[in-house]
Amino acid sequence: MSLWPTQAGADAFYGSPRSVNSSTVNMNWYRANITFVQPPFFMRMVGPVKRFPIHVKCAEATLAWLDQVWRNAGRDQRVIDNWGMSVFSGSYCYRTMRGLQHLSMHAYGCAMDFDAPRNSLHDTTPHFATLRQQVVEPFLKLGGVWGGDWNGNGESADERRADGMHFQFARLN
Ligand SMILES: [Zn+2]
Repeated sequence: MSLWPTQAGADAFYGSPRSVNSSTVNMNWYRANITFVQPPFFMRMVGPVKRFPIHVKCAEATLAWLDQVWRNAGRDQRVIDNWGMSVFSGSYCYRTMRGLQHLSMHAYGCAMDFDAPRNSLHDTTPHFATLRQQVVEPFLKLGGVWGGDWNGNGESADERRADGMHFQFARLN
C-alpha cells in the first residue's frame, strides 16, 4: 500500500508538466504544483541550498524524511556531511529520463538526488547502501523508492540501472 502513484500514473497524480510541444515545462503547471521546502540541516549545491523545489503533494513527506534523517544524525551537521546528505544534487528539473523518451520523475517534482559523487548512476555499491537504516529506510517507510534498490530486495548489486543518488515518490509498478 502506498499513497504514491506508479511512474505510469504520474500524469494523473501529479499533473502533466508538459507544454504543448513537450520540450519545455508548462509554466501554469509549475506555478500550481511546485513549492519550496526548507531543509532542517545545511545543504549545498553550487552555494547554500536554503530551499529547494518539490511537488506540493510531496512537500510534507520530503520534510518528514529529512527531519528523520536529521534526528538519526543526532542533529549533528558533521554526521550529515559524512553521510553526504548535505551534498544536494537536485530535485525538480524538467528533463527526460537519460536516454529515454519518458519524462524523468524529476520533471514532476517528485524526485530528489543526494551526493551524486559517491552515488553515481550505474554504481552498484553506492555510498547510501551503507546508510540503509539512517537514510534509506526512513524514505521507504514513507512509501518512497530508492534508485539504489529499485526492486526493493535490499541489495544494490543486482540493479541494472542503479541510481543511488535518487529518491522518488513514485512506484515502478
Ligand atoms: Zn534522480
